[in-house]
Amino acid sequence: MCGDKMKTIIIGAGASGLISAIYAAKNSSEVIILERNDTSAKKILITGNGRCNYYNEDQNINHYHSENNELIKDIITKENTDEIMNFFNKIGIVPKIKDGYYYPYSNQATSIKEALLTEAKIKGVKIITGENVTKINKNNNKFVIETENNTYNADKVILATGSKAYPKTGSDGSGYLLARFFGHKITNIYPSLSQLKGEESYFKNWGGVRADVKVSLLENNKIIKEEKGEIQLTNNGVSGICIFNLSGLASKGLMEGKKEEIVINFMPWLNNFNEASNYLEERNKKLKNRTIEQFLEGFLNYKLIHVILKLSKINKDDFWNELNIEKKKNLIQKLISFTLKITKISSFEESQVCKGGVSLEEINVKTMESKLEKNLYIIGELLDVDGDCGGYNLTFAWISGMLAGKNIGDKND
Ligand SMILES: Cc1cc2nc3c(=O)[nH]c(=O)nc-3n(C[C@H](O)[C@H](O)[C@H](O)COP(=O)(O)OP(=O)(O)OC[C@H]3O[C@@H](n4cnc5c(N)ncnc54)[C@H](O)[C@@H]3O)c2cc1C
Repeated sequence: MCGDKMKTIIIGAGASGLISAIYAAKNSSEVIILERNDTSAKKILITGNGRCNYYNEDQNINHYHSENNELIKDIITKENTDEIMNFFNKIGIVPKIKDGYYYPYSNQATSIKEALLTEAKIKGVKIITGENVTKINKNNNKFVIETENNTYNADKVILATGSKAYPKTGSDGSGYLLARFFGHKITNIYPSLSQLKGEESYFKNWGGVRADVKVSLLENNKIIKEEKGEIQLTNNGVSGICIFNLSGLASKGLMEGKKEEIVINFMPWLNNFNEASNYLEERNKKLKNRTIEQFLEGFLNYKLIHVILKLSKINKDDFWNELNIEKKKNLIQKLISFTLKITKISSFEESQVCKGGVSLEEINVKTMESKLEKNLYIIGELLDVDGDCGGYNLTFAWISGMLAGKNIGDKND
């Protein structure tokens, strides 16, 4: 390529594609993004409930998951996260930081989208929308990229198509097909950051309740992950950030035919049955002449009280002292280890991300270049990396995009 002008084509104008283009433009003579939608970055606009949680100051690598977990530490490094923060600062984003979660100060995801598009334009990146890439191959060291309407040639290609989560934003899973043209292995794909659903008839009675809890995921009767924070009780199961963070594993387990259960501690300041029993006996001494409903109303939502009492076969007008040992035991268990069976998870259409993707084993994680095909780079959610809720998925998209863009260029050839 020495002497020639180098052309880079990026497939997908989402989070990872845009940032990779901005970095690549420093090194490559011509950078073009092909985007199937008629606008760029549709998904960015709906992130963080329209506010875009674009980063988190807690960058413990345990927030990232992959079949090749050990490789993530070479991507999510202090140097790379610092560089991403500098990048957003340089393109004019002022952060609003809440409990370590970063949002643009405007509280609008559109600020992130527009700042990226402005920077891309300044750097000379060309975005061609309405171009759905259907095929890629290599001919005489040049990539040949076919869309429904045109054929393009490029020296370097970055696949930034996203996964198959939330396909109405454009990421419909076609990236897996494109990666397979070069022999890449795709690990099993599961919906993640999703609601967990079950079949219990009481769900309709607790819909809309929010509770601060400790919640555990039990797989074949063994705890495999725990979270603490707010959950939402819905008409068909459970939702909220803590649940989202358990959903990837639950999703995988369900597909493998394993038994998945959620255990909720509605009194998370207590650790076990005995502590809860002592606490409630003491509470009873303090709060005299209260019905059981009045006894619980100081810390539980009414809808939840009624569900728990019904399941424990206790009348709301009974008194704690009048309950027999069996009923007290039932009630305590429901309060600190409320167990419900998960039978379903939200579909890819409703889930925020995909667990699984192009295997990291086949990627040079310092440059994001494919180990199978020279000058092909794979970034973002298309790869087998998924993050917890809290800015981690975008952070992975930013960093992997930045690494690919930085490592592309005439000077590397
Ligand atoms: C509702 C929702 C809320 C979220 N909130 C957050 C959050 O607050 N914080 C966070 O960190 N993460 C969040 N995420 C996850 C985050 O948005 C994604 O992980 C991230 O956008 C992935 O970036 P990407 O560049 O890999 O893919 P995308 O952003 O999905 O971009 C891929 C692009 O490629 C295009 N494309 C696909 N196939 C083709 C093709 N064949 N030809 C041409 N173009 C193609 C698509 O149209 C799309 O524009 C959220 C996701 C959803 C769905």
